[in-house]
Order: sequence, then structure tokens, then C-alpha cells
Amino acid sequence: MHSFDLIREMGHEQVVLCHDSDAGLQAIIAIHNTHLGPALGGSRMWAYESDHAALVDALRLSKGMTYKAAVAGLNLGGGKTVIMGDPEKDKSEAIFRALGRFVESLNGRYITAEDVGTSVDDMEYVRMETSHVVGVSEAHGGSGDPSPFTAYGTFRGIEACVERRLPGKELKDLTVAVQGMGHVGTNLVRRLAEAGATLCVTDINEQRCREAVDGLKKVTIVKPSEIYSVPCDVFSPCALGAILNPKTVETLKCSIVAGAANNQLETPEMAEVLRKRNILYAPDYAINAGGLMNVSVELESYSRDRATQMVSKIYNTIHTICGIAEREKITTARAADLMAERRLEMVSKLRRSYLRRT
Ligand code: NAD
Repeated sequence: MHSFDLIREMGHEQVVLCHDSDAGLQAIIAIHNTHLGPALGGSRMWAYESDHAALVDALRLSKGMTYKAAVAGLNLGGGKTVIMGDPEKDKSEAIFRALGRFVESLNGRYITAEDVGTSVDDMEYVRMETSHVVGVSEAHGGSGDPSPFTAYGTFRGIEACVERRLPGKELKDLTVAVQGMGHVGTNLVRRLAEAGATLCVTDINEQRCREAVDGLKKVTIVKPSEIYSVPCDVFSPCALGAILNPKTVETLKCSIVAGAANNQLETPEMAEVLRKRNILYAPDYAINAGGLMNVSVELESYSRDRATQMVSKIYNTIHTICGIAEREKITTARAADLMAERRLEMVSKLRRSYLRRT
């Protein structure tokens, strides 16, 4: 599909091609929607096969951010940057400062952050050229690592799912299988263990897996291939995307799927397959919004307490989504999309009349 047809079809407001040959920067900033507020989304660095592949990724990811922010109740829109290059070889101060200048030129319509292939250190360079960046280090008044907040939001989402699907049960009565003992998974299993849950965990990195559960009680470690078929109450994917596919969904022996991984459904149809199997699915972008909420607090003056309070509300969001799905007899994935679209429409209508701002 031609670029402008794609942009029109996905509903983007603006796409900026950023080029600085001296700095070696080629990047695309995609702003999907700013009805709720400035577009916020990270800067991803990746060795794309083609310009078109980079554009498609920027469009897809920025649209995802619009929905994520809308469901999270934030007054933020959706945006994303993709930087074309190999993060192992092509990073430099010049690239990130050049990117910072492009971000600055958008005058606050877009706010960036770290993402796959970029780090807090890279964002320090971006910050030298623009103030429209979040997720910088704590030393610079930023919020630091977002993973504990993502894990806390996921934990609150799991609590809501349990109330919905397994009324009367508490985490101490339940088994949770967690896939991925990385930044989020490690924090999540600590919280689940504190709540008394029985745990079953896995990671392709065996040593990381052992370290993550060191000192915890009621834990079993299984091989990565076994995690889908473990009898459990909650399956919590915290590793990769596209893990809910026809093969894995058939093997699941759980009542709930609720985890932090992005893009868990291999295809949208998987949400219906889960529903037919009577498995409650917590939409990934709703339950894993804790990290986004946390960095959004940097836009005010950062407060850890404020961020924690905000992230805790993922519990309410998951209840609301489940309520919509039950009432309208749709999947929870569709219910989350509807919740986002309705909020966007409501706020757009509100803002039709002129208000003088000084
Ligand atoms: P991470 O890279 O720190 O951890 C991922 C872990 O998964 C690693 O330990 C890796 O070895 C393991 N893994 C990879 N493939 C696996 C497999 N097939 N089976 C078992 N384990 C496997 O990443 P993270 O920051 O913990 O994020 C986890 C997921 O949550 C990702 O999908 C990420 O996009 C999503 N997410 C993270 C955040 C955040 O704040 N970090 C926010 C939103 C969403």
C-alpha cells in the first residue's frame, strides 16, 4: 500500500521524516492522535529492512499508544519514533541529539522516551536538545526504571481478573504461571509471592530464572516449552509477543491470561478463541500501562507516590473492560478498544467549543 493511503487508513495526524546526514540520523516520528493531549511514545531503534517497513512499524506502534493512553485515562495522545539503525553498532551522541532537535521542532506535540533498542543514557542526549522527553534518569528528575510500575499494574490487573472469574478466591489459594523472568517478571513474582500465590515460572535464561525466585516459597521452575500446559489459575505472559496462537491457546489449562508482554495475541481472532474456551484475557495494553503512567507523572513534578496511586487504578480499568465485554457480549480485547474509542470521541466533542487560554 502507498504511504499516504496507509497513513489515511490508520488515521494518523502527522508523520515526520527526520534526516541529518552529518549526524547519521534517519528516523520517522509518527503522531497518531492528539485529541487527548500531546502524543507520547518511545523512540525505537532497529535495523529495518526497508524504509517502508520502518514506516509501517512507526504507524502501528503510534496507533497502539493512542489506545493505551486513552484506556489508561491519561490526557496523552499516541506517538512513536523509529530510528533506522543497528542499536549495537550505530548509536552515537550525534544521532540522539539530532533526534532531540527534531522532537523540539514539534513544539510539544510529541514527547519521546526510551524504547526497544534505546536506553536511559540515550535519552540523556535527547534531553540536551529538548525538554519533551520522559523516562530520563532519577538523577535528572526522571522516574528511572519503569518495570516495577509495569509489574505493579499487572499485579493489580491480575487481582481484578481473579475477582471477576474466580469470585471468592484469593491469590493465596491460586497458582500463577509466569513466562519470562526479566525486569517485569522478576518484580511481578515478588509481589505474587508476598500475596501467598503458588508460582510456576520459566525463562530461556535458566540462571536468571533461578536468581529471580531465589528465597521465594511455593515456586516450581519449568522448561520454557512447558509453561503453556501447566495446570494453573492464571497464566501471565511477561516475555514475548504473539505467544497466544492457535497452538498455545489450545494447550492452556488456566482460567485467566493476564500478563505484561506487548502484543500477546498473534492475530485478533485469538481473543475470540480464548473467550470460547472461557478464559478471561486481560488486554495487554490495558494491564501493562503502569510504565506509561509512571513516566507520564514526569510531565508534572515526578512523585513516586502519585505514580503508584495512578498505577493501582489498573485494577478499576480491568473491571471496567470486563464489564463492557459482559454487557455487550464481546471479547475483552474489543471492549478495551471500544473503551479507548469512546473516550477519544467524548473528549473530542467536549473540545469543540472555543475556550480562551492565557
Ligand atoms: P526483559 O527483556 O527484561 O525480559 C524478558 C525476559 O523474557 C528475559 O529474561 C528473556 O530471557 C525471557 N524470554 C524471552 N523469550 C522467552 C521464552 N520463549 N520463554 C521464556 N522466557 C523468555 O523485558 P521486560 O522489560 O521484563 O518486559 C517483558 C515484556 O513486557 C515485554 O514484552 C515488554 O514489551 C513488555 N512491557 C514491558 C514494560 C516495562 O516497563 N519493562 C512495559 C510495558 C510492556
